[in-house]
Amino acid sequence: MIMPVNGQSTAIFHRSLNKEYDTASSGSGVYIVHSDGSRTLDGSSGAAVSCLGHGHPVVIEAIVQQARKLAFAHSSFFTSDPAEQLAQLLIEQSAGAFTKVMFLSSGSEAVESAIKMARQYHVSRGEAGRVNFICREYAYHGNTLGALSAGFNPPRRQAFEPLLSSAFHHVSPCFFTRDAKAEEDEEAYVDRLMAEYEEMFDTLGPSSVAAVLIEPMSGATLGAVHAARGYLARLRDLCDTHGALLIFDEVMCGMGRPGTLHAWQALGNVAPDLQTIGKGLGAGYQPISAVLVGSKVHQVMQSSQSSHPFISGHTYQGHSIGCAAALATQQTIIHDNLLANVVRMGELLDRELREQVPMLKEIRGLGLFKAAEFATSPTCRIAADVARTCFSKGAAVYLCSPAVDAIVFAPPFIINEREVKELVKIVADSTKDVLEEQR
Ligand code: PLP
Repeated sequence: MIMPVNGQSTAIFHRSLNKEYDTASSGSGVYIVHSDGSRTLDGSSGAAVSCLGHGHPVVIEAIVQQARKLAFAHSSFFTSDPAEQLAQLLIEQSAGAFTKVMFLSSGSEAVESAIKMARQYHVSRGEAGRVNFICREYAYHGNTLGALSAGFNPPRRQAFEPLLSSAFHHVSPCFFTRDAKAEEDEEAYVDRLMAEYEEMFDTLGPSSVAAVLIEPMSGATLGAVHAARGYLARLRDLCDTHGALLIFDEVMCGMGRPGTLHAWQALGNVAPDLQTIGKGLGAGYQPISAVLVGSKVHQVMQSSQSSHPFISGHTYQGHSIGCAAALATQQTIIHDNLLANVVRMGELLDRELREQVPMLKEIRGLGLFKAAEFATSPTCRIAADVARTCFSKGAAVYLCSPAVDAIVFAPPFIINEREVKELVKIVADSTKDVLEEQR
């Protein structure tokens, strides 16, 4: 949740911690400029979106040029140069993991599509009984009904429960530093989680499971918690053993944010069968997401009897301006070697937070996807107040779900040393202020 201030909005009709909003008028680099001229350091890129910061001239130019050439041609009839080039680039960068790409407009749409693809894959193979999905508690996969069914953020689900699908079943999240028993090392902890998956497969009937869907790095709910060592490899084996697909949702944690293009590349190099990406793909310059499809799924669906490989379609899928913006974004990240900066600034952010912010329980995460969890009790939480105070002092940070008392940092990949230090100073000062008020 981002913390806005000042004034009512007619255009915003969703839940937020604050009832009043400020107007964002312009942006430059890591800063968003308010209508009164003051500026906010975008310490979370919104929700891990604006990876190139604001006002990037290369992306803006690519959008303008594509808009001049052709804004829209329906994907039932046409593809476009930027869509084809972007798909090629994503496939080349994924070292053989994927062979097809489907572009959509939001992370939720990508998750819905991945779920449907998994289902259609099994139907095409004559295994129509595979109707169940195993997901994890405290995951977030989006707000449309299928994605919300797959996720497990109680406050977001509660009002809609009767409408959510019963095909989604949830096992424990992977949170080694919080959930491991005193006597468990990482291997023993992963053993325990795998036994829970096995039990879930057994309960459902292994041949009824279509896929396991997880975030390799939990984002919005638990805050930058990455899979424990060996977890993804063991899960891959388990899915293969039971004939289920493995789907990674990297809408928030991927596209360079952990210092590698995909989070799974930093977590044992275990590729999924299907992967969703979004947010940083187009850096917020256009709404664009995608499903990356591995050859196993692609080949079965391509050779199935249906007239289209995948029975789906959204009006704006593969939108040429979205693809042009995302292509320019990804080319800029490569050209400017920004992942090296993600790693370097991520280390600095980690160090500075540990040194300066009081009351910390843990700093965790990879690259420029970090969380600070506070050493508070369930009855005395401070993260929401810290985030609100940060906003009033000129920095936006992302507030996790109530499952943890934590804030997330996901600044643009272009952030420099001075800006990291400015961000941490605001967070440290805000935390001290909040603690002082509570005395
Ligand atoms: N999946 C994950 C892991 C996310 O973090 C999000 C959004 O925060 C989504 C899916 C949904 O993306 P969108 O909000 O673009 O629909």
